Amino acid sequence: MNYNTLLVDLHCHSNISDGLLSPRDLAYTIYNSNIKIWSLTDHDTTAGLLEAQQESKKLSLNFINGVEVSSDWNGRTIHILGLYIDHCNNCLIEGLKNNINCRKTRAFNIVKHLDSLGFYGSDSILSSRLNIKSSIVGRLHFARFLVDNAYCQSINKAFQKYLSDRFFKNSDAKYASLSDVILWIKNAGGIAVIAHPLNYKFSNQDLNKLIERFADLGGEGIEIPLFQNHKHYELIISLIKKYNFYISCGSDFHSLKDNVMTKERFSKIPKDLKNVWDYFL
Ligand SMILES: [Zn+2]
Ligand SMILES: [Zn+2]
Repeated sequence: MNYNTLLVDLHCHSNISDGLLSPRDLAYTIYNSNIKIWSLTDHDTTAGLLEAQQESKKLSLNFINGVEVSSDWNGRTIHILGLYIDHCNNCLIEGLKNNINCRKTRAFNIVKHLDSLGFYGSDSILSSRLNIKSSIVGRLHFARFLVDNAYCQSINKAFQKYLSDRFFKNSDAKYASLSDVILWIKNAGGIAVIAHPLNYKFSNQDLNKLIERFADLGGEGIEIPLFQNHKHYELIISLIKKYNFYISCGSDFHSLKDNVMTKERFSKIPKDLKNVWDYFL
């Protein structure tokens, strides 16, 4: 396989969702990392796109409008990136409102759950996040709270022990279905891409099922795993070829602490697959 050396990062979060940098500071970080094409893909909100777009222009960065939408597939949450979206599209805006409300309900449930375990004080997240217009609240905010207050040693442990989806399975709050989310993205002129396909820890069979369904519904791309030693890497590549998907590439950047955008990771993007950033080349 031949590899690309161009640096692209089409999966980044700002503090409008659960990242730590403002869209503006994120654009500078991208610039300093020598990345040439990037996208802001906040969870279920497009509120940071304009600021990111304006700063990118000043820095001569190629910027793609994006969003990362939570969807429900057979009771599991699957993250779908919408790239090249028109963020003024009504269908998308209305759809995202549903997910933002769902996030609020889940956040209240998480506070109750953490209180019941004796981890008091997480309601402060609700007041600080929900008072900011257009911002969203996510599990990562609670994971940081648990670590910062020494209730838990690491973000990963916080997710596993206290914030796993399984604790909130019976909640009324459900994200929109995979089919609805793909519809909104397509309606907004975007390309729907499955984010971090290996994070869901699916069996081969379930991964195949998800991707087949995604293709049936009009999904068009998959984010390429940046770690090639993963046991499912070859399977993902073969499914990309089978369905003639676009590949996308992103670090899922949240903060300088959590992620490092390095050339070593990004230089391993296979060259012989059709990619979503071709538009800029
Ligand atoms: Zn995600
Ligand atoms: Zn993400």
